[in-house]
Amino acid sequence: MVLRTGEEYVNAIKHRNKVEIYVMGNEVNDVTEHPFLKPSILAFKATYDAAYEEDSKHLARAWSVFVNDEVNRFTHIHRSPEDLAYKIKLLRKLSHKTGACFQRCVGWDALNTLYVTTKLIAEKGKKDYYERFIEYLKYVQKNDIALAGAMTDVKGVRTLKPHEQPHAYLRVTEVTKDGIYVSGAKANITGIAAAEEVIVMPTRAMSEKDQEFAVAFSTPLDTEGIKVIVGRQINDGRRMENGEIDGLPYRSNHEGLIVFDNVFIPMERVFMLKDWQMSGILVEIFSAYHRQGYGGCKSGLGDVIIGAAYNLAKQIGVEKAPHIQNKLTEMVLLNENMYGTGMAASLDAIKLCEDGCWWVNPMFANITKQLVTRFPYEITKLSTDIAGGIIGTAPSEWDLKNPKLRQLIEKYLQGIMDYSTEERLRIVRLLENVSFSVAFLIESVHGAGSPEAQRIVINRIYDYDYAEKIAKYLANIEKSINFKENAEPWKKTDTEKIGKQEK
Ligand SMILES: Cc1cc2nc3c(=O)[nH]c(=O)nc-3n(C[C@H](O)[C@H](O)[C@H](O)COP(=O)(O)OP(=O)(O)OC[C@H]3O[C@@H](n4cnc5c(N)ncnc54)[C@H](O)[C@@H]3O)c2cc1C
Repeated sequence: MVLRTGEEYVNAIKHRNKVEIYVMGNEVNDVTEHPFLKPSILAFKATYDAAYEEDSKHLARAWSVFVNDEVNRFTHIHRSPEDLAYKIKLLRKLSHKTGACFQRCVGWDALNTLYVTTKLIAEKGKKDYYERFIEYLKYVQKNDIALAGAMTDVKGVRTLKPHEQPHAYLRVTEVTKDGIYVSGAKANITGIAAAEEVIVMPTRAMSEKDQEFAVAFSTPLDTEGIKVIVGRQINDGRRMENGEIDGLPYRSNHEGLIVFDNVFIPMERVFMLKDWQMSGILVEIFSAYHRQGYGGCKSGLGDVIIGAAYNLAKQIGVEKAPHIQNKLTEMVLLNENMYGTGMAASLDAIKLCEDGCWWVNPMFANITKQLVTRFPYEITKLSTDIAGGIIGTAPSEWDLKNPKLRQLIEKYLQGIMDYSTEERLRIVRLLENVSFSVAFLIESVHGAGSPEAQRIVINRIYDYDYAEKIAKYLANIEKSINFKENAEPWKKTDTEKIGKQEK
């Protein structure tokens, strides 16, 4: 049995000696006890607890052929389309358990990306990356390691290439027979202070001139030369108030800037070194896996928001009004669209090589994420509409706890008598903090790549010329047409072209 409990995970990240982690200018010794990071650790911990909870263990556990044992699904290599669908279901459920981003997906997607990429490289004859990766995978699975995934470079001037501004992309500064030295920084890294290991990958396709930036590796976070600067979030000060209403749901995520200052990476943890030709493929594989996942976690947060809005409508007696019912229906429609495309990306998966290598359907994965850049904003707007202005103006829990003010608040903010004013404030705060969160709004736009990145892929895959031929044929402009076997007018991605395809 290689399934860690939540407690075991928390204990594993308590003591660090080498990494420097900063929150609001101060170095943190024990991340598990720091009030700013604690909600984030609790959300991460939920991914471990889920493997032991009766309602979720069927989703949160999987069988690994690599270690011949049951493992936490967050370390699992997808072996079938059903596995990919289980991923989406697990993420939706975990959103219900946390009301937050639980931060373990990027590392998981990085693990699957490296499995496929090193395997594709091995099939071209270079086998050492794959062999090293399999050893690493076994280590991760046997120890149920908490991973973060670091892909996004700081990028400086976006139109300049890595070799034109070396400081803006993480790079290899020296190669020895034992390993490599790397310097640079990765930005916006989810759950970084809560992770034990970081998987680092290139953020974009590279040219030959950029080869020193084409590097993939893993490292324990607690390594000499690594610094983490944790970022701020909307309403984050509430985490440190010791309250139990205003900061609800009291689980949340964090992101951070991770800086590598001449960090040594032993060769057995290097999975790509100067293979600039494979960078674009790696990015394509990772981004599709990660974009698919958003169909699960964001629809799960959508459920929390829909539930809160429905409850608030009942509290003020408007739940039966036709326009409120329409708005709730609209929220469900938007939410299930995100989930539905995530499921389609899973169940219409593509097998890229023998021994698994199940990759998500790239068109549906990119459509999923594109919907996610838009629908959460719409869902937030609709829930704000239903909640009323109180979502932006409610008194604090400290006012409610002041005996002089409690009576006034209870009298004037009371709705239907079946509900207490405190219940109203609790749901208002939950709705505010989830619907306006970084996890539901900002991450939905930029996480897994900004909106334009998906549109580029969607346009690359959709075969406009073939669609035009169909139109011309039906308009009797062309007398014949060679219909393709596939129903979808889609072209193959670069990844499909180099991998073996079997549906
Ligand atoms: C909450 C959150 C969590 C995240 N978690 C992770 C994580 O765990 N790991 C990780 O690796 N990354 C993570 N990311 C980073 C995410 O992948 C990036 O934010 C995303 O790829 C966009 O990059 P950027 O933020 O640098 O924005 P940019 O790429 O700079 O985008 C800003 C704007 O510039 C435009 N633009 C960019 N380049 C060009 C160009 N060459 N020409 C024209 N227009 C351009 C974009 O389309 C966009 O409109 C996270 C981001 C967020 C917000």
